[in-house]
Amino acid sequence: MTSTTSLTAVPAYAAPAPKGPLERTTIARRPVGAHDVLIEIKYAGICHSDIHQAREGWGEAIFPMVPGHEIAGIVIETGSAVTKYAVGDRVGVGCFVDSCRTCEYCVQGLEQYCVNGTVGTYNSREKNGEPTYGGYSTHLVVDENYALRIPEGIALDEAAPLLCAGITTYSPLRHWNAGPGKRVAVIGLGGLGHMAVKLAAAMGAETTVLSQSLRKKDDGLRLGAVDYYATSDEETFRELRGRFDLIICTVSAPLPIDAYLRLLRVDGAFVNVGAPEEPNAVNMFSLINGRKTLAGSAIGGIPETQEMLDFCAEHHLGADIELIRADQINEAYERVLASDVRYRFVIDTATI
Ligand SMILES: [Zn+2]
Ligand SMILES: [Zn+2]
Repeated sequence: MTSTTSLTAVPAYAAPAPKGPLERTTIARRPVGAHDVLIEIKYAGICHSDIHQAREGWGEAIFPMVPGHEIAGIVIETGSAVTKYAVGDRVGVGCFVDSCRTCEYCVQGLEQYCVNGTVGTYNSREKNGEPTYGGYSTHLVVDENYALRIPEGIALDEAAPLLCAGITTYSPLRHWNAGPGKRVAVIGLGGLGHMAVKLAAAMGAETTVLSQSLRKKDDGLRLGAVDYYATSDEETFRELRGRFDLIICTVSAPLPIDAYLRLLRVDGAFVNVGAPEEPNAVNMFSLINGRKTLAGSAIGGIPETQEMLDFCAEHHLGADIELIRADQINEAYERVLASDVRYRFVIDTATI
């Protein structure tokens, strides 16, 4: 199908300036190019990084800002050269909408590590310098190569958070071979953590939650964990010494890394997907004794993100969500900051 209804202005929720509340506005979307699809956004998840960026917690940002990189919707128009998608297809868009496409990582499908930098879904600039606007909006135009197929079998609202929280945890679980016979610990049971537990359990790993308190223990076990420990209890660190093959840390608070490294088996890995703002000291003996790995991991490339969505459909996994109206976004931000969400807010974009 060729372009017939190119949009210019579409409704959105934007932060007009740092730290101010988000409000309804209109933004311009580019005309549908030959390789683009026009997506009618149905749902957009609220990621903690939306709040960091809208409040300039990670440095200077581009305003007005339309956050949102957990996007699920339907293709309503395709450019003349589009081959992957047709009108009516269920699609998603995650944290980036373009990359250089030629560096060694892009050609391997590891676009998230593009040496020339990805084009972020929002708070970023297209190659032509135009600002990008994210998913708190009704429509999005994106190159077909940076869209993902959302299989039947995952509800669109529960699929939206998979595009960031899902892939951020799926990628390190796969890379460090979570599966049968492996013991995986997940630190923190929030948006990322609850997906890490679901995914690790679905991969067949024996999964344990390490959380500050036992407040969410019932949820953790329901999501697939076999054990749940409070890290506020010193006994936890004695009992679990040498237990895990892999620890996925989803929290961004500073942690006593050495204490957690002692929970690993020989050749075990501690992988950060949450990022504390301050540097964290580590005693090198904690790594040397037991040939342990301290690592990090960022989202996933396009092929792996598709693999994750297909895996979730096969295992009937989506995020646990609280669906909200657009006029509840500011309140939802405060609740995310207070860890008062089980486990992801998703905006019904029909209310924008
Ligand atoms: Zn995110
Ligand atoms: Zn690249």
